Amino acid sequence: MSFDTVIIKIMDQIDIKSFNKEELTAFVTQAGLPKFRADQLYQWMHQKLAASPDEMTNLPAAMREDLKRHCSYATLRMIDRQISRLDGTQKFLFAMPDDALVESVFMKYRFGNSVCISSQVGCRMGCRFCASTLDGLQRSLLPSEMLEQVYSIRRITGEKISHVVVMGTGEPLDNYENLVKFLRLLTDENGMNLSQRNITVSTCGIVPRIRDLAREKLSITLALSLHAATDEKRREIMPVAQRYTIAELMDACRYYFETTGRRITFEYSLIAGVNDSAQDAEQLAHLAGDAGAHINLIPVNPVKERGYVQPAMDAVYAFQNKLEKHGINVSIRRVLGRDIDGACGQLRHRHLGVPG
Ligand code: SAH
Repeated sequence: MSFDTVIIKIMDQIDIKSFNKEELTAFVTQAGLPKFRADQLYQWMHQKLAASPDEMTNLPAAMREDLKRHCSYATLRMIDRQISRLDGTQKFLFAMPDDALVESVFMKYRFGNSVCISSQVGCRMGCRFCASTLDGLQRSLLPSEMLEQVYSIRRITGEKISHVVVMGTGEPLDNYENLVKFLRLLTDENGMNLSQRNITVSTCGIVPRIRDLAREKLSITLALSLHAATDEKRREIMPVAQRYTIAELMDACRYYFETTGRRITFEYSLIAGVNDSAQDAEQLAHLAGDAGAHINLIPVNPVKERGYVQPAMDAVYAFQNKLEKHGINVSIRRVLGRDIDGACGQLRHRHLGVPG
């Protein structure tokens, strides 16, 4: 049996890079090939990061040809690359096989190199301070397309990658199945073998999916984009807050912590005159205290379409101090890549040519 027979039975393009080891083995053996070919193929894709089946020199030529003809390989085309002169941050704009555009970022930290990936093409969550949502949601990304952002950056930069954050465009929990598959592939010991502890998934707070994710028993860090400490305020800046109250969110966070043993991070983008008052800090401190959460303060990255501005740095430090007085663990997000299109979705938005 050749791949052709299988393809005709299933569909015309197989997304082999989204298969886990068992699925790939079933696929390869159904095609009449020995099981070890699946091991080799998996290793080429996920460990050696081959850019094309042409590189898979220990596979028979006929198999490589079949792969090229019948399987999608999810290679991304680099459309733009910006390198910050300030801190070496690199921002990439990649085109998917269907020309959909996504952004990914490479950052250097003292603890290692980190890649920030997108989970969707655009976003439908509508957060008012975020550029990713300006053009709406085009589609969700496949596991292979999330992986390939990490793999492409590894190939292009030649740098080791130890950390991955799912904090680019899109709401990862609005693409739940593909996200979980991606996380398992990325941390597979037969693949890139990233430590689950070095992966952060950031969500605007889709309560039922937070509970689902807790039950996956992954050792990843969950970051919750809170940005306001009362429902009233949160609803002004995040439409998702109409669906879930902060009380429901806090319950889900508690469940996540109890189930996984992993502490949550609260992300809080400080917007001048909107959520940076002393009272905001008090209310936030209580929420974080109850949840045992760490807080990551992010002076809002101005997006000119939105008109929000960040508070002066001394106001940011004052806010941090107030939280720390309550014994809360607080960090201020180090600003990287300010001289390139730093904020989520800005590079893609500019390339789409939308006026504004
Ligand atoms: N949808 C997910 C992940 C993508 S956004 C989420 O909401 O968490 C990643 C983080 O960047 C979120 O905390 C988001 O609220 C924040 N963010 C988006 N636009 C921003 C901006 N202009 N300035 C500061 N933070 C921003």
